[in-house]
Amino acid sequence: MESALELRGLLPEVELLENEPMSRHTTFRIGGPARWMFCPKTPQEAGDVLRLCHEKGVRPFFLGNGSNLLVSDEGYDGVVLSTAKLEQTMRLEDDTGIYVQSGVLLSKLANFAADHCLTGLEFASGIPGSVGGAVRMNAGAYGGEISRVLERVDYLDLAGRLCWATAAECDFSYRRSVFCKQPWLITGALFRLRHGQETEIRGDMAELARRRREKQPVEYPSAGSTFKRPQEYFAAALIEECGLKGFQVGGAQVSEKHSGFVINRGGATCADVLELMAQVRSKVLDRTGVMLEPEVEILR
Ligand SMILES: Cc1cc2nc3c(=O)[nH]c(=O)nc-3n(C[C@H](O)[C@H](O)[C@H](O)COP(=O)(O)OP(=O)(O)OC[C@H]3O[C@@H](n4cnc5c(N)ncnc54)[C@H](O)[C@@H]3O)c2cc1C
Repeated sequence: MESALELRGLLPEVELLENEPMSRHTTFRIGGPARWMFCPKTPQEAGDVLRLCHEKGVRPFFLGNGSNLLVSDEGYDGVVLSTAKLEQTMRLEDDTGIYVQSGVLLSKLANFAADHCLTGLEFASGIPGSVGGAVRMNAGAYGGEISRVLERVDYLDLAGRLCWATAAECDFSYRRSVFCKQPWLITGALFRLRHGQETEIRGDMAELARRRREKQPVEYPSAGSTFKRPQEYFAAALIEECGLKGFQVGGAQVSEKHSGFVINRGGATCADVLELMAQVRSKVLDRTGVMLEPEVEILR
């Protein structure tokens, strides 16, 4: 990214923020300014942004709800394309399908499904991501996973061309998809659900929310699970075994409620979180021989 790149005025119809603090756009409440942040309102506007970036030789960073993201204290000297202000369309398709645009939050989608007596998305109701971020990350919880209820994804390639892929073409695995390898902007997704009873669906969602509140430090800013689940282990159990529950660097702390979460106790910087993560990884490796891999994405 050429830091001298001047984007102001080139796409007058698209909202453009300059030096926008990323701490406002991440659930960790951490992160310095993004040099440029485009906030398109339609997929067409998003396509215009992609074409402009393509012409300028700049690769934009796609921002959903910022719930799996740790942004550097210095910020990001590039272009961010946020989906937060995209149209929030959700509509029924056929008998059991829901088409949804990518900026919609999973909680809203799960509630829409419950309103229409469709089951399959209860697991997602408490994941604080957007549909785009959840598809890219193949988000999952309590035995459910996006890949199991997805039928099709619409996306724009870097030249702003509208394309689509079936779920099988998305190459899903644990917290990964083809969108981790290909820099494509997800604009919408078609979910395939099953008929159910609204009271049962809502009951399950309430029970999962209760379990989340009981087990996870949802009262503090965080980016969810800090590390991926290592094969045959649980990151939280390994961290606890090493006596690191409550371990703190600056304002960042290994949650006392759930050792798999690093939380922002107040005023944590990205440097605090990175130092904490490095120390946790090194101690867990020394003591157990397991190398923890970050699940949270780091943008710098
Ligand atoms: C309290 C808490 C609990 C959580 N619990 C869970 C859980 O149970 N299960 C789970 O899987 N995750 C969980 N997470 C993590 C997070 O919510 C998920 O990873 C979520 O899917 C991220 O979505 P997002 O919109 O916030 O993505 P972001 O954090 O904004 O971005 C994540 C990645 O997706 C990319 N991206 C975002 N939007 C698009 C798009 N439209 N097109 C292409 N790429 C895009 C970004 O570039 C980035 O690489 C939790 C997080 C928190 C804070």
